[in-house]
Amino acid sequence: MLFTQPDIPREWQPAYRDYRQRLEALLAILGAWLILFTMLAYQLSYSIRGVSTPGIWSLEYLVRIPVYASLLMTFLSHYAGWPRWQPKILIRAMSMSLMGMILILFVIYFYWKREGLHQITDGLMISLFGVTLMSTRGFRDWMIQIGVPLALFAGAAFYLRVPLSDLMPFLFGPMIMVIIGFLTSEALRNLSINQFLTKQSLRQLATTDQLTGLMNRHAFLPLIRHEMNRSRRSKRYPLSVIVADLDHFKHINDQYGHDVGDQVLRETAVRVTASLRQQDVVCRWGGEEILIMVPETTVENAMTVADKIRRALADTPIPTDRGLIRQTISLGVARFHGEQHPENLIKRADEALYQAKDTGRNRAILAPASKAVTTSD
Ligand code: GH3
Ligand code: MG
Ligand code: MG
Repeated sequence: MLFTQPDIPREWQPAYRDYRQRLEALLAILGAWLILFTMLAYQLSYSIRGVSTPGIWSLEYLVRIPVYASLLMTFLSHYAGWPRWQPKILIRAMSMSLMGMILILFVIYFYWKREGLHQITDGLMISLFGVTLMSTRGFRDWMIQIGVPLALFAGAAFYLRVPLSDLMPFLFGPMIMVIIGFLTSEALRNLSINQFLTKQSLRQLATTDQLTGLMNRHAFLPLIRHEMNRSRRSKRYPLSVIVADLDHFKHINDQYGHDVGDQVLRETAVRVTASLRQQDVVCRWGGEEILIMVPETTVENAMTVADKIRRALADTPIPTDRGLIRQTISLGVARFHGEQHPENLIKRADEALYQAKDTGRNRAILAPASKAVTTSD
């Protein structure tokens, strides 16, 4: 994974972006506190470190201003919620101002104040390690945060005709630190990606039906509750549900075996999903019962969807290990009428489904509007 982008499945990428943002937000505030602590420790310890204190308006003080400014922005953004800068930007601002500061200090001490130069190289070592660790997005990030300041520095050294042999004794340690930092940061990045993938797989396992790949009942209920609340608040969001049940499915199992039954179920899930729009949510409600939530749709359109599903099965036989099998499906549709609990709404769709079964199967029936409608608790 070194130097490469992580291999995250497409459907998990939004979740991965979220996860990375949260990690970066944590890293930004942690980094800000660490930088503040280190800067103050260095700044308040001139006498302990045996170097002369620079004047307040000296360049040595001034180069710290951009760092303190970026720290301030990070603290404000984290604790006051303003400015709403992305953690990535805050990390870059802190990293680049820190690198700029330490490299300018290096030049100052290299040329004019040799007395404390080794302390500056210590500082360079710490900064390079810290900033490398903050390059959470891999090599490109690292190039921006470290490569650019270093390239500017190298350009300046070249321009000033400072021989590399003069710089090397001071830069060797810091350069080794960059390598250690880079490997550490790659290892941490790998760990965090693996942690994300593990978490996401567990979540998927807990919310997905293993046979059909559809969402399970457990994952569906919070979604329908959310949509019911939204629909209750605004007439602009009509909501319907469709309950679908395969016709005479027991016969398939009895005649061809459970495995062929499973094949039919899997293909049913594929065809149902293909008949829906992106905002519709489908789940395996029970054995061979499928529940579909159709939000932001009039009940007439929900009936159209139900009929589309019906035809998707009735019109084309399903290929299985035992040849083509004709399978039909019956559906019950109910419009949301302000019911308090999803069960009540689904029960009405279920009643319509029974009616579809009673009147010959392979059809979709609309539930009559509910009599007792409760719109509040
Ligand atoms: P109806 O038209 O009245 O719905 O008749 P039906 O035979 O489909 O009756 P019902 O819906 O009650 O039958 C459900 C059957 O679905 C019973 C069970 O054996 C089968 N079933 C449930 N889950 C699975 C599964 O995961 N795989 C397979 N192969 N069969 C399943
Ligand atoms: Mg059935
Ligand atoms: Mg059934």
